[in-house]
Amino acid sequence: MIPTADEPVADATCSRAGCRVRARWRIDWRNPRIHAADRTKTWVACDEHRDYLQGFLEARDFPVVVAPLESAGTAAAGAPGTDSPGRPGGAAG
Ligand SMILES: [Zn+2]
Repeated sequence: MIPTADEPVADATCSRAGCRVRARWRIDWRNPRIHAADRTKTWVACDEHRDYLQGFLEARDFPVVVAPLESAGTAAAGAPGTDSPGRPGGAAG
């Protein structure tokens, strides 16, 4: 198995400067002036700073997509300890 060297998004700390809280949201954004159309940056944010970071980017007219950060390590109440067969939704981007 080859370990993926992707961004450690699933277990990340809020991107807000000085914040040490575990991030619960991911913010995918792009600066159209310097980034190509297929190039996006990803920030992560805690509950408190999600709106701040989203607003920061939207104020600059950057395309912003906010989505829940899915973390397998987070013990969700009611979730049994079984492996899920896969994510719903399939291959749709
Ligand atoms: Zn934060």
